[in-house]
Amino acid sequence: MRAGRYSQTGKATEPGNMQEQPKERAVIFEPQHNADGFRRCGAAALLMVYRSLGMDDASLAKNEKTGQNGALSQERIFEEIGRDTRTYRLAEHAIHSGLTAMIARLCDPWEGLATFLEGYLDGRSILNIRPTFDSHRGHFVYVCAMSPGNHTVVLHDPQFGPDRRLSRAELLELWTPRGPHCEIRGRIGVFLRASPPADRPDSASTDDFQRCDHCGMTVNPGGFRKILPFCEYLFCPSCDHPHPLPP
Ligand SMILES: [Zn+2]
Repeated sequence: MRAGRYSQTGKATEPGNMQEQPKERAVIFEPQHNADGFRRCGAAALLMVYRSLGMDDASLAKNEKTGQNGALSQERIFEEIGRDTRTYRLAEHAIHSGLTAMIARLCDPWEGLATFLEGYLDGRSILNIRPTFDSHRGHFVYVCAMSPGNHTVVLHDPQFGPDRRLSRAELLELWTPRGPHCEIRGRIGVFLRASPPADRPDSASTDDFQRCDHCGMTVNPGGFRKILPFCEYLFCPSCDHPHPLPP
């Protein structure tokens, strides 16, 4: 059974039964297959999200925007998100595949990420970081876990391999823009959940939904209430327009 879907108004139209979904973040690693000068780290990271939630099967994986059917692959996701692989395109793809998504810039990124992982068993996250300390490029990684005591984060890094471990200081450095032409804005992550917020006791009403004043798409922080205190801005998953936090 797949996750519930959201219409453009943010109403649940197909309530999910996520009790049947696996909740483990540990997942088979997906290396990025770059082609034609395009980096596919975003598609690889998103595939690991889908795989961890049991959504990559051909019987489940229909994208409501493109109407495509068939098993999700890195190549298919790459084509569907658009080759520029912007952060908001990852979130948009996830929403059209039945997940709930929020793009946020965190003001306290380490605590915010730890709170998200601890607070939501069905929570998955993709971070937009620099791949190495001397790089100005943008890169997407799938977050597997934080170690006991939260001293280390464990990433499935599509470029560097499974179980890449970074200390708090290392992650925060890579999550910070450096240099004049840096491709990351810093401290931005895509936070994803399998369950529609309306099904969850920790989130609530349609008051949680905001309409993007730029494109009209629903910005939906209601299912991510636990990490909102750690967020600085939200971004529209359809047009990337920055959004204020809900009151
Ligand atoms: Zn928008």
